[in-house]
Amino acid sequence: MSQTKIPSPPTSPPRNDWTEITPPALYEKCMVLASNLWWSWHPEVVSLFRDLDPLRWRQVDHNPIALLAEMTPDQVAERASEMVLYTRINQAHRRLHEYLGNKQTTWGARHAGVLGSKPVAYFSAEFGIHESVPIYSGGLGVLSGDHIKSASGLGIPLVAVGLFYDQGYFKQHLDQDGWQQEEYLDTKVENLAMAPARDVQGQPITISIDTLDGQLQAKVWLMQVGRIPLYLLDCDVEGNRPEDRELTSRLYGGDIRTRIRQELVLGVGGIKALRALGIRPGVYHLNEGHSAFAPLEVIREKMQDDGLAFDDALREVAQQTVFTTHTPVPAGHDRFDGGLVEEHLGPLRQQLGITNEQLMGLGRVEPQNEAETFCMTVIGLKLSRRANAVSSLHGCVSRRMWAHLWPWRVEEEVPIGHITNGVHVPSWLASPMQLLYDKYLGADWQKSMGNPNVWQKIYEADPGELWETHNVLKSRLLDFVRRRVSRQCRWRNEDESAVEAARNMLNPNALTIGFARRFATYKRANLLLHDLDAFVEMISDPNRPVQFIFAGKAHPADEPGKKIIQTIANLRHDPAFSGRIVFVEDYEINLTRHLVQGVDVWLNNPRRPLEASGTSGQKVVLNGGLNCSILDGWWAEAYNGKNGFGIGHGSQHADTAVGDDRDAEDLLRVLRDEVIPLFYERDSDGLPREWIGRMANSIATLAARFSAHRMVMDYVEQAYLVAAGGQSSAMNMP
Ligand SMILES: *Cc1c(COP(=O)(O)O)cnc(C)c1O
Repeated sequence: MSQTKIPSPPTSPPRNDWTEITPPALYEKCMVLASNLWWSWHPEVVSLFRDLDPLRWRQVDHNPIALLAEMTPDQVAERASEMVLYTRINQAHRRLHEYLGNKQTTWGARHAGVLGSKPVAYFSAEFGIHESVPIYSGGLGVLSGDHIKSASGLGIPLVAVGLFYDQGYFKQHLDQDGWQQEEYLDTKVENLAMAPARDVQGQPITISIDTLDGQLQAKVWLMQVGRIPLYLLDCDVEGNRPEDRELTSRLYGGDIRTRIRQELVLGVGGIKALRALGIRPGVYHLNEGHSAFAPLEVIREKMQDDGLAFDDALREVAQQTVFTTHTPVPAGHDRFDGGLVEEHLGPLRQQLGITNEQLMGLGRVEPQNEAETFCMTVIGLKLSRRANAVSSLHGCVSRRMWAHLWPWRVEEEVPIGHITNGVHVPSWLASPMQLLYDKYLGADWQKSMGNPNVWQKIYEADPGELWETHNVLKSRLLDFVRRRVSRQCRWRNEDESAVEAARNMLNPNALTIGFARRFATYKRANLLLHDLDAFVEMISDPNRPVQFIFAGKAHPADEPGKKIIQTIANLRHDPAFSGRIVFVEDYEINLTRHLVQGVDVWLNNPRRPLEASGTSGQKVVLNGGLNCSILDGWWAEAYNGKNGFGIGHGSQHADTAVGDDRDAEDLLRVLRDEVIPLFYERDSDGLPREWIGRMANSIATLAARFSAHRMVMDYVEQAYLVAAGGQSSAMNMP
């Protein structure tokens, strides 16, 4: 790295904030800020790190610890002096300190006090907190990250439990043929804001789990996410066999045996870790089935500590357990055969005093049916008193899907409610939009962003100003995409003309539509291409140009998903599309942030009802983009006719081919007859008034309802307090 350091002359006049603090103390303050992921949702702290070295900041994936590790305290002090950062560092440091100290005046202190000494233990296989912490793959992880950030903001007593994957999920490249290549990189542990978690005696923790095939051990890391401790189990310890040391290397990697072993570590190991830490949770929240072995270990503890029989302990533990199911896609539910279950849970089963058949029965819809494998969703539902889906429609689908677990009930009374997902506003909101909200919603709007009334004031915003702010963000996105795509061309060794073309592509005045998600076939990324001629015709009007930005990964084993990526990526070679359809590689949080902040329209066209909720469209709302989506997941309950666009009239088809044809047709109709004309309808000031009206309507009607603050408050009131034995209330039932 070659960066010229200009030494500040010793005779320079002392600045106000210059004399207060020595370089080591300043460096220390920066490290304190970097060591709590609180910084990641505070734009003023992010920009402070960036200002220390903008180029390096980008190169180290926005990781402040990696950045600071390359600088000496004197270099930081010099740079701080050049950029006048002293006051900002002091201020940020004080704000963090106050944030951590102030727990008395939070919403949680007022509404979730009973959880104080017996916190919620929140289990998830992945956490998406920031691009520099690669322990997530997609939507589920980002949701968990947003959940704990909002729990932090609201002051909810909650501890989080997950796995540490030292290679995380893969990095995506496309080769010359547009075929996805996966690359796994080792994460440098020393560059992450985490330290060994310590037990009540102050010793680092290693937990062990007996299996019939020997012992499995894991160490425990502590990562601080605002006020929330996140404990991450990691099997890379000396006592483990070499293959077990790699057990937690990759997220969703390996075979089915890897999967059950990871889930054993997450669930059973997670409970053991909490015990070693001296934490006695009052509520266990299993976010998806991956952690559903956890209650078995809690039952064992209860039997041992309180002398309870298995059935009584199970009843008590189920009372304390909340289970969230996330997918209506049958293949999305983990299933294990009897041999794998016995190998891994045999020793625990013996301590529970139950037979192999009894244990298998807990994972089966029909306990006696030997043809049934052990399903993590089924055991999750059986070991929790409160279960929920993640949108209203997903609630209906889940009740139907699991109705046979409660054959004596009618479908409407199947005890699966719903709490619709939401997003952590400060993490996804672009600074220019935040400034606009500061101006129109009132300075304190962030304190009550879960309150819908706060957002009504957006109707008073100057339409020209809202439009201008959006366009600033849009050009930021286009710049980012050009940079990324020219880098992709270089990686593929394409010639200089291709790189140059990438640097100049995309039209800032064209309607820009984003589509980014996992490339699973049910998400139908290729639905647009159903009738290729009609599609080309639609986007070829020189007066009303349309361009598309695609991104997303396919699971390494998903060939059909990779084929769809290839089809879309290769459109760039077709003159009818070149420069108008772009595929940006390696969808991760940083790319998401740019996309959701800068697109005009966010397109989502899954096969209804397979999208449980979706959250990316909610991020778009906050930044003034409009959703154009099949009425599925969250959009089925969000769309009001004026806050975006709806595709498909909420219909479903038993025959998927017929359904796909109809949806494809309706998608083109909505784009051609509604979206494009509205975007290009300008008044004498050149403003698309109606469009801007929809932007305001979208913000006013959706921002609060689909925020993670609202979601976490719902979990507290409808699930956590009930499970903790506080008050009773019903989950959202139809
Ligand atoms: C928000 C987000 C998602 C969730 O997107 P949906 O397709 O709406 O479920 C997935 N991946 C990343 C990186 C995200 O930031």
